[in-house]
Amino acid sequence: MQRLVHSLSELKDKKIAIVGLGKSGISLVKLLSTLGVKVIVNDKKNENEIYKDLGHLSDRVYKVFGGGHPPEAFNEAQLVVVSPGVPISTPSIVSAVYNGIPVIGEIELSWEILNILKPDIKIIGITGSNGKSTTSTLTYEFLKKDGKKVVLAGNIGFPMAEVVYEIYNKEIDIDYLVLELSSFQLEGIKNFKVHSAAILNITPDHMDRYSGMKEYIEAKAKIFQNQGGDDFLILNMDDKNTVSSIEYLRNIYLKKGKLPHILYFSRFQKVYGAFLEKDAIRFHLREELSEDIKKEMENTVLPVNSFKIKGVHNIENIMAASLLAFSVGCTADSIKEVVREFPGLPHRMELVREIDGVSYINDSKGTNVDAVAKSLESFSGNVILIAGGRDKDGDFTTLKEVVQKKVKAMILIGEASQKIAKALGEVVNHYFEKDMKSAVIKAKELAQRGDIVLLSPGCASFDMFRNFEHRGEVFKEIVNSL
Ligand code: ADP
Repeated sequence: MQRLVHSLSELKDKKIAIVGLGKSGISLVKLLSTLGVKVIVNDKKNENEIYKDLGHLSDRVYKVFGGGHPPEAFNEAQLVVVSPGVPISTPSIVSAVYNGIPVIGEIELSWEILNILKPDIKIIGITGSNGKSTTSTLTYEFLKKDGKKVVLAGNIGFPMAEVVYEIYNKEIDIDYLVLELSSFQLEGIKNFKVHSAAILNITPDHMDRYSGMKEYIEAKAKIFQNQGGDDFLILNMDDKNTVSSIEYLRNIYLKKGKLPHILYFSRFQKVYGAFLEKDAIRFHLREELSEDIKKEMENTVLPVNSFKIKGVHNIENIMAASLLAFSVGCTADSIKEVVREFPGLPHRMELVREIDGVSYINDSKGTNVDAVAKSLESFSGNVILIAGGRDKDGDFTTLKEVVQKKVKAMILIGEASQKIAKALGEVVNHYFEKDMKSAVIKAKELAQRGDIVLLSPGCASFDMFRNFEHRGEVFKEIVNSL
């Protein structure tokens, strides 16, 4: 595919529209205005709010269009960059595409510029419905422990455009970039290429935005669309949707005649890559791998009881992160050391406190049905589950079996309460509560020594909270005040 940017000088005075002024949009304004671009900003917020968000960058933008996405916003644009939060199906964006204006995402434009500034950087990209932040952070920690010059960015809160800005300004100098990538971010790529890519799992999520699973799988599969014979692709063999993404590899093969090195991970069978045997992660090598990589992977055993983070899903995350790290030459010693120390991220199966033999666990980031299933699977039983929030069109009936086995009582909050009760009410005692405080108090009332009170909502948080972090903080505050 033809490059969108060939040189930095070509960007001077180019008119580029940024649609959606979130964190990555603001970083892009900073980067592009520094490079002399005439930046047009468009957002559904009104113009005053946009200028407030832009702050000192306000006088560096060329034009601002607020209050929606009117077609005029794109009249002058030679390139349109759409934020992950704005659907590409927005009518004025569709019209821009129709008029021949390239429409891309922040990751693509950042990559095009990075590729001019520092083409040798090795990019490691991680996508999946669940586990992205944990796996990206683990991979980053492995490389850091190994003494590599690495930065963690993307969906995790530090935009790729910010990294590129800092490289341009010589504020940082790195050889590796670990990127957490959502399917929305991947929708907007064209040439963006990752050296090592992983798809952790593809389970129903965001079904409010995609027409169906096929479209969602296609978006995730974009992560490997530009890979070549020297690159690595890591896939979850236990997840049928992830495995079905392999179908799209045919396109790479037809274009280049060479596929990336494909490695799998599995908890249930011996595969080329990482697998679980006798309670330890082990590695099975492909002959074609370089001698250096083989030397590190060979005979490496990671006993599950040496991991500080718990849960079956984290075994998968560690398998994926180890393979990614090995693929860029990380040593087994660094991996072993990090898994012993890494405490996990806040709001992901985070132990808040133990009171009278009852553990209170904050899994506020469990925002879809599969995340709840995985969290429940990690306990032997006796869970009092607090769930609910804003529904993402999840199918809660798939939780019947695991809820029946592991959950003693379910406490429901938020907009999805009735829907969840309808799906699961017949297999478990359930209670409706009006807010987090009354939900926690009810849980305490029900819990006996040895029980687990788990907040794993299976829903988005926006009906009652600012975001999942806010929901988790409120939960923790209440638990800590009990
Ligand atoms: P993401 O960034 O993809 O949302 P996180 O690492 O933040 O992923 O984890 C989000 C939630 O998903 C966790 O709270 C946990 O309940 C669940 N989870 C984490 N890893 C996995 C996995 N590999 N498979 C399924 N669920 C997972």
